[in-house]
Amino acid sequence: MPSAARSLEPAFNRPIVGLSGAGPKVAEKLAARGLLTLQDLWLQLPLRYEDRTSLTPIARLQPGVAAQVEGTIEAVERGFRYRPVLRVAIGDDSYGTLVLRFFHFRAAQVGQFAIGQRIRVYGTPRPGQQGLEIVHPSYKLIGIEGESPLGDTLEPVYPQIEGVGPATMRKLIAQALDRLPDQVALELLPEHLLRELRLPTLREALITMHRPARDADVAALSAGTHPAQRRLALEELLAHHLSLRRQRIALQQHGAHALAGKGVLVNKLLKALPFKLTGAQQKVLAQIRSDLAQPRPMLRLVQGDVGSGKTVVAALAAMLAVEKGKQVALAAPTELLAEQHLANLRGWLEPLGVRVAWLAGKVTGKARTKVLEEVANGHAQVVVGTHALMQESVAFHDLALAIVDEQHRFGVHQRLALRDKGSQDRDGASRVPHQLVMTATPIPRTLAMASYADLDVSAIDELPPGRTPVQTIALNAERRPELIERIRAACAEGRQVYWVCTLIEEAEDDPKAAPAPRGGPAMRIEAQAAQTTFEQLTEVLPHARVALVHGRMKPAEKQAVMRAFKQGESDLLVATTVIEVGVDVPNASLMVVENAERLGLAQLHQLRGRVGRGAAASSCVLLYQAPLSQMARERLDTMRQTNDGFVIAEKDLELRGPGELLGTRQTGLAAFRVADLARDAGLLPQVHDLAETLLATSPALAERITERWIGGAARYASA
Ligand code: ADP
Ligand code: MG
Repeated sequence: MPSAARSLEPAFNRPIVGLSGAGPKVAEKLAARGLLTLQDLWLQLPLRYEDRTSLTPIARLQPGVAAQVEGTIEAVERGFRYRPVLRVAIGDDSYGTLVLRFFHFRAAQVGQFAIGQRIRVYGTPRPGQQGLEIVHPSYKLIGIEGESPLGDTLEPVYPQIEGVGPATMRKLIAQALDRLPDQVALELLPEHLLRELRLPTLREALITMHRPARDADVAALSAGTHPAQRRLALEELLAHHLSLRRQRIALQQHGAHALAGKGVLVNKLLKALPFKLTGAQQKVLAQIRSDLAQPRPMLRLVQGDVGSGKTVVAALAAMLAVEKGKQVALAAPTELLAEQHLANLRGWLEPLGVRVAWLAGKVTGKARTKVLEEVANGHAQVVVGTHALMQESVAFHDLALAIVDEQHRFGVHQRLALRDKGSQDRDGASRVPHQLVMTATPIPRTLAMASYADLDVSAIDELPPGRTPVQTIALNAERRPELIERIRAACAEGRQVYWVCTLIEEAEDDPKAAPAPRGGPAMRIEAQAAQTTFEQLTEVLPHARVALVHGRMKPAEKQAVMRAFKQGESDLLVATTVIEVGVDVPNASLMVVENAERLGLAQLHQLRGRVGRGAAASSCVLLYQAPLSQMARERLDTMRQTNDGFVIAEKDLELRGPGELLGTRQTGLAAFRVADLARDAGLLPQVHDLAETLLATSPALAERITERWIGGAARYASA
């Protein structure tokens, strides 16, 4: 007998088309937003609620407090004051008067407002010229009193979808909810778990979210802490976790080259290095080595604070592949960072006879053809580049190890693209490359669990010896002249200085890599700010050699400026946040960050990591514009108090309220519908355990949970 659940499955996937009000045009608009089935509508949750369950006497309206009133139209006035305006005055038994003001209106609308007509209005009153007024209220003309009863649930307000009016949206979702299967058919989570966590069933949760009772805890709903929301968040986080775990399981079904050589090249490189590996580097290298020796793909994330020495560990891992005659790809998110890896790897590996190739978007024409050829025929043993490496046109001869640096800056799909470049099954076996992912953005353990459920995590939790912690101070921008004096002195002593102009985040080469709003104009403004600062500093510091680098310069120019700075040919480098990631100039020991109050903790920490890389004691000056918001003050305090990336990450999580979500960029996770990692972090350990249990005991159920929440996206990711 087919199970009840299976026979009901189509109900979830029944298309929206067919609901009344969902013509082909509307369906198309909804589809563009990923809303295809009834289930998608159930999971389309309100942004907020309007309480239209009661009427407020007009005389008791308060400015700024949304309310519903009912009254009679007392006066209508059409006029022009700068622009056309329609004003409708209404009154009720409380002897209050309220003005409704419209700037956009049609003639037909004007005709509706007849004196004496009853009208029900919802909106937020504000003080106007004659008492309170509501601009563009939602309203409904009604007949005799009592004809139009009030609802007994709060009115949901859904996210706006272009081309689908709010009323249509409400109507469609209401119909979808009417078709909600019964509890048993709908529920996927085990009953005992819900009881244990005191969470409602899915059916109860959805009904509460879409149609909260008049006395629902609206404060909890808007804070996102209502049990109905926690219930949905739990299932959604579980779905994401399961999807990542399943990707891992699927990937590990493939074979990989076991890279278990003697380590001849590793030993040669170790001997040639001017330093000894730290204990932490040795520990992580050993973990990688034992992963690589297996005939199934490694999936490992190496977290290590800025300056902890991840690059050399990556280079050593690469040697294990090269020794076995295989290829290695190393991808970095920006050209600048990739170039630096190139320089490091060439410096370390070419003396050992290892051929290192370069492939970035800017490599074009004949040079590109040549590199692609060398990558395809195996001449190139280590290929360093940007996301250009991940493009379809790039075919490897025998890629055994894919290394991705600063992976939080890549989309998850980009990282996955490299794994598909494994060797074709020459001996009939399908092989995928081992994956090594490196990040300097420490994320709290709980979040790591969520975002990297498909990876094993190791940490380089020790800095190379001889580094002194960076001394950080926060300075009001008014004290800039003093600061400039200090810089003058520092340059005279032969110290090198970064001056970072930060307006908005830097754009990357590939817009697809960064879902956060960013891009051209921001980069231009930042570049302009840097240009201006560069000119000012050049003028006031005539004895210092001042240089400029920003994201709008040509890569070759940028590289030349960076090289000159690294070689000590300039003293003061005015830069935009292009230097945020990976730039390594050990002699630079002073950094100034402008507008530090606008930056998040993670970015400040990344920037500061550019100094304190050499033996000299370093300092970082965070210039801010007063007055500081509470949040900005706490961020700057945190920066002054600690250099520990993990402590900073925890503080970051604590400081980000529901309004300041952790973006995709930081976590590598797709956007959630309900869950909020900062808010719901407490659920993650539960999610983790539950996922393991489900995968072990009920894989079919696990699949349905993933399908429900992620559906097409999951299919795409594992395709
Ligand atoms: P990150 O982890 O931030 O990518 P890097 O790999 O750029 O750090 O290393 C930072 C600097 O430290 C580089 O100049 C690198 O050569 C140097 N370094 C790496 N490991 C050691 C070590 N064990 N001892 C001394 N210096 C090291
Ligand atoms: Mg690095």
